[in-house]
Amino acid sequence: MYYIDPHIHMVSRTTDDYETLAKMGCVAMSEPAFWAGFDRGSVESFRDYFRQLTEFEPKRAAQFGIQHYTWLCINAKEAENVALSREVIAMIPEFLNRPGVLGIGEIGLNKNTRNEATIFMEHLDLAVKFDQQILIHTPHLEDKFQGTRMILDMLCDDSRIDRSRVLVDHVEEHTVRYVLEEGFWAGMTLYPISKCTPQRAADIVEIHGPERLLVNSAGDWGPSKPTAVPDFILEMRRRNHPESLIRKVVYENPLEFFRQSQGFRFVPRDQEESSPVP
Ligand SMILES: [Zn+2]
Repeated sequence: MYYIDPHIHMVSRTTDDYETLAKMGCVAMSEPAFWAGFDRGSVESFRDYFRQLTEFEPKRAAQFGIQHYTWLCINAKEAENVALSREVIAMIPEFLNRPGVLGIGEIGLNKNTRNEATIFMEHLDLAVKFDQQILIHTPHLEDKFQGTRMILDMLCDDSRIDRSRVLVDHVEEHTVRYVLEEGFWAGMTLYPISKCTPQRAADIVEIHGPERLLVNSAGDWGPSKPTAVPDFILEMRRRNHPESLIRKVVYENPLEFFRQSQGFRFVPRDQEESSPVP
């Protein structure tokens, strides 16, 4: 089955990973800008990172027939530095018309601080001003519930935001309902030790249905598994779910969400893959 990984940090992965993903059916992926594991010292570091995301990674992916897309921002962790964040936000428009840029992300909260919230809202302004889609990171573990509520409040307070163009990522059992009920898209991140497992993601699809739900691997520099989406496909098959349902979650849903972005120029593998499943 062909699939799309809507959230994966390929700058942290090897070329062998691209090859493995291609062999497993990955035809496209999107890579949000994130924390490098250390705080960057200047706006120039972000300019170079955005060049890596928009120039180098698409070429590396294309060697294996994978289409690579990206999202730009300063992440929630470094947003604690408000002055640097504002410099980065002022620089982002240089890149917004580049091929493969889908929008602003992954913005969000980390420790739910005032500075993080300020920069989150300034990113929302940027997205509205440049008519961009938005991809959102929700906090880890004990900060997730409160952080998700804060994020949803900030989004819902801004009447300019088109909710069908916003993806709220890293949802779990205790947050997914609020995200879907407010009309946003929700992403489940399949991690080996935290966030969701393939089994829990399958449970969530069974409980909430497949509408506006995505699954991703978030494969990054920490403990993570870039092939987690195929693990989800296997788990759904093990439970005897129809191929059409699985395909909706791992292929058609990301296509439907991404197609709202000017930068998404997806070329399906063949005619059969581009037509909706009856
Ligand atoms: Zn991420």
